[in-house]
Amino acid sequence: MATTVWKGHLTFGLISMPVRMFAAARGERISFNQLHKECHSRLKQPLFCPVCNRNVERSEIVKGYEYEKDQYVLFSEEEMDKIEPASAKVMEILEFVKLSEMDPLYFDSSYYISPEDAGVKAYQLLMKDMEESGYGAIAKLTMHQREHIVIVRPGTRGMTLHTMFYSNEIRAAESVPTDKIELKDQEKKLAQQLIESLAAPFDPQKYRDEYQENLKAMIAAKLKGQQVTEVAQPHLAPVIDLMEALKKSLAEKQAPAARPAAVSPAEVAQVSAGKKPPTRAVQPVAVAQKRAGKKAAG
Ligand SMILES: [Zn+2]
Repeated sequence: MATTVWKGHLTFGLISMPVRMFAAARGERISFNQLHKECHSRLKQPLFCPVCNRNVERSEIVKGYEYEKDQYVLFSEEEMDKIEPASAKVMEILEFVKLSEMDPLYFDSSYYISPEDAGVKAYQLLMKDMEESGYGAIAKLTMHQREHIVIVRPGTRGMTLHTMFYSNEIRAAESVPTDKIELKDQEKKLAQQLIESLAAPFDPQKYRDEYQENLKAMIAAKLKGQQVTEVAQPHLAPVIDLMEALKKSLAEKQAPAARPAAVSPAEVAQVSAGKKPPTRAVQPVAVAQKRAGKKAAG
């Protein structure tokens, strides 16, 4: 079972439901240094105090924030608990916003929310209503010594929560000179046609890290003493005539040229299982060939 990262109540007006949160993905955060309570020295792994010249127990650790070089202000666990806002235990829904209005730029880490037995019905009610109305819930949540603003939204299997960046954490984008360029109707029409021809339902399962797959295949090939061949790289010509490029792209889309086949997972499996020697070696990147080629050949 997944590790619970937060446990408490999600409240919605006077309705309260006990929930648990599980990480769906995770980001980085600042942490405290660990000091010896007795002399405030920075501890090393294993927890050893270089000033007291002895190993230190967990119970002897105190949290310190380094405000100047070698200068710390101290915090005990009790003090840390004392300043916890109400959102450490209760995630109160403050307002509902249309999900379509939200910029994904604000999303940070993603979590799943599960109801405890006592909260199943309220959870279902809230989720269904949000699904039908297109609303997401904005709430506050204290976790890992930070109070986050979060968005709770209906997911495919239960509710999903995203911690959000505060607006002061979002950087300004570099300006793009979009309004100075004049677009012809014909260019817009062709571009629209090209977009339509590439349109597909969102299916994240079909995207793979081909570099990692090629690496695995390369390892398998090397273990078998096979040569590593180069992957054909696409040739990118600079766009001189936008209209010509659009027309060509559409024509290619209608009659797709035979692309160089990538290594399929099935082939990789064959290489690693050693069932059938592949007719051609795998196709990892050119750089790998340059570095590894000599070794493999020698
Ligand atoms: Zn010490």
